[in-house]
Amino acid sequence: MTTKTIMIPVRGYAAQDAVTPLNPFTFQRRDVGDHDVLIDIRYCGVCHSDIHQVRDEWGGSIFPMVPGHEIVGTIARVGSRVTKFKVGDIAGVGCFVDSCRQCTSCKEGLEQYCDSGMIGTYNAREKDGTPTYGGYSSSIVTDEHYTLHIPAALPLEGVAPLLCAGITTYSPLKHWNVGPGHRIGVLGLGGLGHMAVKFSAAFGAEVTMLSTSASKEADAKRLGAHHFVLTSDQAQMKNLAGHFDFILNTVSAPLNLNAYLNLLKRDGTMILVGAPPKPAEIQGFSLIMRRRRIVGSLIGGIAETQEMLDYCGTHNIVSDVEVIPIQQINTAYDRMLKADVRYRFVIDMATL
Ligand code: NAP
Ligand code: ZN
Ligand code: ZN
Repeated sequence: MTTKTIMIPVRGYAAQDAVTPLNPFTFQRRDVGDHDVLIDIRYCGVCHSDIHQVRDEWGGSIFPMVPGHEIVGTIARVGSRVTKFKVGDIAGVGCFVDSCRQCTSCKEGLEQYCDSGMIGTYNAREKDGTPTYGGYSSSIVTDEHYTLHIPAALPLEGVAPLLCAGITTYSPLKHWNVGPGHRIGVLGLGGLGHMAVKFSAAFGAEVTMLSTSASKEADAKRLGAHHFVLTSDQAQMKNLAGHFDFILNTVSAPLNLNAYLNLLKRDGTMILVGAPPKPAEIQGFSLIMRRRRIVGSLIGGIAETQEMLDYCGTHNIVSDVEVIPIQQINTAYDRMLKADVRYRFVIDMATL
């Protein structure tokens, strides 16, 4: 007698290697286990990390790769022991789908810092070695513990980017207690940057947008920035020396960090979330002279991601998005590489 493993057929878009465009791809997902949910994906955001990984800029990419970690959709099936969700609920999945569940970080709800490494939603391997495939696809099977509730009444296409761009900016702002009395500079107005502006303003900080794109000034102010500075304007940059308590750096490309560290006050903090592939050079005196520091932050844990989504529900915060059909994904990547996105591309999965 042979036992046949049931798999779920899925349609998506994949990169077959680091240089060719993404193309249609069919694959299979595991059947819904006792603690799993099956989500019919409605929207998936396009993060710059998708581009870094598709192009193997961070090394170790696994192909074929179905990117996408800003996923929202409808629960289509639930496993026999699922308690958090029922069929028809709206659910979200962010950057990871599993972790060891036993280390101190996992126990503290900081699964993104799991000692064994979080298991990414794509470009990773499940504990049994199966490659993970992300949200540029028709459906996904996830453990309910790694699945989020989406507050009712928010437009779903605007919610999708909260699962990465949202939590990646919310988490460090909370960790460093950014709020009233603080001056923060947000560096780079893209997907993460525009959420950083919204959250920093909502938390009561004085927000300055630091951008290379003069054309984004009006948008930056509409999003909540109190000031806008074009970083190529040497006179304005000089005026800002020693000005900020915090700089949230979301830039995806190589950058002269020293020029921005110089804008921090004594004991000021640069929070690095942007992850350019190449190392940056830091002049020791940029930190030494005013006892400045540079810190990093990786997305956020499940509990905090839920907290952020609930906060957005209460305060009516969503991402500003350009909804695209999946057939335009390669064009969207090209535009992001030119800093031309307002302010997150989101794929409408009905176009698949
Ligand atoms: P994005 O939407 O493409 O935005 C990046 C922005 O950076 C651009 O819009 C542009 O803003 C600015 N920029 C681009 N090239 C620049 C350059 N050469 N010099 C100065 N500024 C430049 O990207 P994203 O999705 O927000 O992601 C940003 C970075 O964060 C990526 O490296 C991504 O991998 C990383 N990330 C990290 C985490 C984490 O957990 N730490 C999570 C998600 C993403 P202006 O036009 O305003 O200059
Ligand atoms: Zn991301
Ligand atoms: Zn762990």
